[in-house]
Amino acid sequence: MSHSNLLARSLKSVWHPCTQMKQHETLPLVPVVRGEGPWLIDADGRRLLDGISSWWVNLFGHCNPRINAAVREQLDTLEHVMLAGFTHEPVVELSERLSTMTGQRLGHAFYASDGASATEIALKMAAHYWRNHGRPEKCRFLSLAGSYHGETAGALAVTDVAIFRDAYAPLIRAGTTVASPDARQARDGESAADVARRAAADLEACLARDHHRTAALIVEPLVQGASGMVMYDPEYLRLARELCDRYEVLLVADEIAVGCSRTGTFFACEQAGIWPDFLCLSKGITGGYLPLSVVLSTDAVYDAFYDDATGRGFLHSHSYTGNPLACSAALATLDIFEQDDVIRANRARAQALGDAARSRFGDHPAVAHLRQRGMIVAFDVLTERSDFSTRFFSAALDQGVLLRPLGNTVYFMPPYVLDNAHIQHLMAGAAAALTAALR
Ligand SMILES: *Cc1c(COP(=O)(O)O)cnc(C)c1O
Repeated sequence: MSHSNLLARSLKSVWHPCTQMKQHETLPLVPVVRGEGPWLIDADGRRLLDGISSWWVNLFGHCNPRINAAVREQLDTLEHVMLAGFTHEPVVELSERLSTMTGQRLGHAFYASDGASATEIALKMAAHYWRNHGRPEKCRFLSLAGSYHGETAGALAVTDVAIFRDAYAPLIRAGTTVASPDARQARDGESAADVARRAAADLEACLARDHHRTAALIVEPLVQGASGMVMYDPEYLRLARELCDRYEVLLVADEIAVGCSRTGTFFACEQAGIWPDFLCLSKGITGGYLPLSVVLSTDAVYDAFYDDATGRGFLHSHSYTGNPLACSAALATLDIFEQDDVIRANRARAQALGDAARSRFGDHPAVAHLRQRGMIVAFDVLTERSDFSTRFFSAALDQGVLLRPLGNTVYFMPPYVLDNAHIQHLMAGAAAALTAALR
């Protein structure tokens, strides 16, 4: 079948995410038939280098032989069983390994299938924790300006991205937004840590006023992804941890995007030397294979729910909670981290990625705030064009590169398999796309 036929059928029957469908009257869909390492191969045999890990999920390339083998083996053993009243080896092993990776500080793993659900779980657990402690009035949430924690109605309450939130404002019980420690806000002579301290002062003022009705603060550690790869100093996390302790407010680290070594350490929080009360993982945890999310929490949280009364328990559930296939993909992913010493290898890879970006874009007249944290590199493009993002995306495809700017922010967030030739292809494609998009 011709692929133009496939595209027409897709547009007729598939409602694509994050898309004004009418845009596809002019912007063609890309029909992907195969994946191979960092490459996506389309119906014409065109090869696209996946510069954004297929929406931040893929860690070790497409059709990774080791993850494939693990999922295949699990497929022939047990595809799924409910997790209420039942258990299985993959979910136990995954929970134990994640607990070990936090030094047993976050030793209780609650599973769901996607990031937004992990946010919902952390928020519900936080409020329920206070209720079980006889303080039901502590049920509000704080989040940072420009935060993104998912798009279900509960998660939108702590998401500060107007385009995702405004249409649903009447459905949402909005929380309070505090200042973002965005390092780009540095005034003359200020460091990123100074900006972090200013933002922490705003958080403190808010906590001093509202702590008695606040259940938790939720943050994306080190990088606020969806609002434009906003990067900030770890000092903010240290101060936020202190303030949350002082004001009896729980801290939720949403590491759905920044976890799994994306920022240079397995958990981004490690760079601040702190642990949250809840840590959410999803996206990369299965290597980008299968939907899975997990909320890790402390003994103190777990103990607050442990009781003879059913209603004091956490009764939340999803049909596919702890799915064995997804857990097996996650275990294979953790195996690769260990066996290949990935965090170390990524240091050199991140250096090469950053160097290549700095040499191409560091002096570009239309580029501002070139920034990097581990395997995320981003810059802002100075342009008045309202269609910059779409133009850049299309131009990059023409260069054999998948990049999808967030507004005027171009970013690179590739899988951890790029070699130097891939990096050069990626940056050359981005440079040509930038020229074309600004034309
Ligand atoms: C992607 C993302 C989510 C939502 O995850 P979904 O699986 O898309 O629901 C939540 N928080 C952060 C920081 C994310 O990047």
